[in-house]
Amino acid sequence: MADKASIVAEPSAECPLCPRLVEFRGQYRAREPEWHNAPVPSFGPQKASLLIVGLAPGLKGANRTGRPFTGDFAGDLLYSTLIKYGFARGNYGASVSDGLTLVDCRITNAVRCVPPQNKPVPAEIKACNGFLSATIQQTANVAAIVALGRIAHDAVLSALSCRKSEFRFGHGSRHAVSGKRVLFDSYHCSRYNTNTGVLTVPMFHAVFASVRAHIDSG
Ligand code: SF4
Repeated sequence: MADKASIVAEPSAECPLCPRLVEFRGQYRAREPEWHNAPVPSFGPQKASLLIVGLAPGLKGANRTGRPFTGDFAGDLLYSTLIKYGFARGNYGASVSDGLTLVDCRITNAVRCVPPQNKPVPAEIKACNGFLSATIQQTANVAAIVALGRIAHDAVLSALSCRKSEFRFGHGSRHAVSGKRVLFDSYHCSRYNTNTGVLTVPMFHAVFASVRAHIDSG
């Protein structure tokens, strides 16, 4: 893992730290030269009160478009929810040119490069954790962090140097992780989770209603 103290929040397009992911993005640069095919930068203002942490770019979503959660199923539910709770403005059009803006909200991923089958291995999650740590530090006003899924939850705890045994993942759980910062857990808004009923739209909305109340009480 890169030195957290010296690392910057945004990896270079040629970040070499994960050989498997470097090879995978190289394959897609050759196969789909019009796609982004590089680490996906965080989206939204650095002064945001809310930071959302996903798992990794989807192959035909963020890896294609270059904006987190843009262009795949998970983005449909996430962005409609952010608009509903006042964390985004405009119309989500599944494209970086849709004009959608985030309001007091920022989105990033625990792993910045697309992994095969949407499954990063532990070494890759660890390698990218310095970028997540720097992103959290950079988002200095953040009062709420939403972790989408257990891997994102664990990555946030690592980035904050918190003990995982003290903060167990559970959908709808909230954890006072550092100072006034609260970590909210949600199942990932993936097509698989919604199709199987693991995550329903009301369940997802309830998390963001809690986040909205926390930030407004702040
Ligand atoms: Fe670098 Fe993160 Fe991509 Fe690994 S996943 S190559 S650490 S940007």
